[in-house]
Amino acid sequence: MDDGYIKYSSERRDGIVPESAQLDALNQARTSLFDLGLIGVYPDGVGYGNLSVRAGGDQFIVTASATGGTRILHSGQYCLVETFFADQNRVQSRGPLPASSEAMTHGAIYAGNPAVQCVVHVHCRKLFDYWLVNNQLATPADIPYGTPAMARAVAQLVLAQSILPVLFAMAGHEEGIVAYGSDVATTHALLLTELQKSQAP
Ligand SMILES: [Zn+2]
Repeated sequence: MDDGYIKYSSERRDGIVPESAQLDALNQARTSLFDLGLIGVYPDGVGYGNLSVRAGGDQFIVTASATGGTRILHSGQYCLVETFFADQNRVQSRGPLPASSEAMTHGAIYAGNPAVQCVVHVHCRKLFDYWLVNNQLATPADIPYGTPAMARAVAQLVLAQSILPVLFAMAGHEEGIVAYGSDVATTHALLLTELQKSQAP
């Protein structure tokens, strides 16, 4: 698994991530997904899963790198992504910790659809297999995560979707699922609905 390694370059400034009702809702959804095992740490110690909410313009607040093992996060474990450059695979963020390794994917979604307010990336073997077997929406299998090519593929996928919320698999990123929508609640609900379907006998 490749989560937990920051392949892109990131610049971080110290600062406080502003608290909000939206961030509280995101954090509660995160804990629920953590309890389902969709966010966590693999036996080799590498964490997976990251969530974000839009913070105005194309800026967003995303879970910081290497937070997958913690059940309940505090605001200092999030960071504000102020600028990102997809082609250079580079982000500038503010907060006590570095941005998650998949911040570029989040950025590509916010930039691609101004109505999106929430992006959730989780790992789930069952949902991933179910989704791909049923030939559902996915980024190509030959595109690995954390690359400019992934950011471009995600941007393309987002432009082709007119209805929110949306769920897709990253076929080139084992177990990787992304959901995004116009708020935390509907994005979280879509993920839970599809998870349930994938677990039906
Ligand atoms: Zn991942």
